[in-house]
Amino acid sequence: MRTASEYMERAEEVLLHTYNRFPVVLDRGEGVYLYDMEGKKYLDFGAGIAVFALGYHYQDFDAALKDQIDKLIHTSNLYYNAPAVEAAEKLLDACGMDKVFFTNSGTEAIEGAIKAARKYAWNKDGHRTDHEIVAMEHSFHGRSVGALSVTGNPHYQEAFKPLMGGVRFAKFNDLESVKACVNDRTCAVILETVQGEGGIYPADPEFLKGVKALCEERDILLILDEIQCGMGRTGSMFAWQDYGVKPNIMTCAKALGCGVPVGAFVLDEKTAAASLAPGDHGTTYGGNPFACRAVSKVFDLYAQNGIVEHVKETAPYLEACLDRLVEKHPCLESRRGKGLMQGLVVKGLPVGQVVKGALDEGLIVLSAGSDVLRLVPPLVIEKEHIDEMADKLDKALAGK
Ligand SMILES: *Cc1c(COP(=O)(O)O)cnc(C)c1O
Repeated sequence: MRTASEYMERAEEVLLHTYNRFPVVLDRGEGVYLYDMEGKKYLDFGAGIAVFALGYHYQDFDAALKDQIDKLIHTSNLYYNAPAVEAAEKLLDACGMDKVFFTNSGTEAIEGAIKAARKYAWNKDGHRTDHEIVAMEHSFHGRSVGALSVTGNPHYQEAFKPLMGGVRFAKFNDLESVKACVNDRTCAVILETVQGEGGIYPADPEFLKGVKALCEERDILLILDEIQCGMGRTGSMFAWQDYGVKPNIMTCAKALGCGVPVGAFVLDEKTAAASLAPGDHGTTYGGNPFACRAVSKVFDLYAQNGIVEHVKETAPYLEACLDRLVEKHPCLESRRGKGLMQGLVVKGLPVGQVVKGALDEGLIVLSAGSDVLRLVPPLVIEKEHIDEMADKLDKALAGK
């Protein structure tokens, strides 16, 4: 058995260096805690980047996966499978939409959403091929070329140009800026209901309602990216439900499979009826019985254990704890967020330094944007875990 430092050294030799990793080899998880190879324990407020909503080894989640492994992991989409139907029913029931296409990741869900929007417009406009999409500055939608093209971060895009054409960027939470980008070629507006990677910015209700009204008026599709903010994280199953603004297309991933790689794009009736048709889109793995069994079980466990209600109850306590830290530590400027998706604005020192300091204290937190400390814990955290987090973060911030 190799040591942790041997694995880290070897990783730099064999894994393409696209990440600057923290010097930790995570080995196992239990509840809201992770353990590294040396047995050090970490309180996890990152949840594998907003993935492990239920924490590690939650009730009979693992048992359902093991049962499915023994039956069938993969079939291809040339045949039917029962878990895909059950997962789709539960997802559609949770959002009140019409049709779902399962993918393997978030970025693929975005690709599907873009294709569905373009096809809808193509059908509607007599097969024109000059359609445009309005996306937001500081957004994040993924790393594949289509998703990168609607990601409002020039730094991620620059070296990979030319990207997909026909994208205009508007200012998030600025309706006039969206209006200025819309024209008769616009087929969709895409945005995150709560911006995640860009720095935890919730949409203003008036902004989101204004975008929706604009879209309805001009038959433009509204695509809401709920990959990070969905699945209960903000205190409703999908963040848009709290705004009363329903998208035509929604994208999901991250917590959807609670660690099993799966994403989805979901369409309302109007969009589903007039967009992607047989032959237009496909995936080898997407919607396989293993991934869909995970999705199906996740929805069962959310319902049985009142996960979304738990988030609603727990979030104010987290917010109060974070507000106290902001008051106490001069290097924390402010807090913003929704539910269990919270950001602390760090000033005067690199946010990475705070993340590393927390790690040394046995607390996993993330960064977002250039100066935001991001907290996206498992949704099953209790007040005692929040107290423990606040204590560790307090220590990590001492004297900074
Ligand atoms: C993580 C994320 C994506 C991309 O998902 P991947 O599974 O990493 O491809 C897209 N949109 C948002 C809002 C995300 O947070």
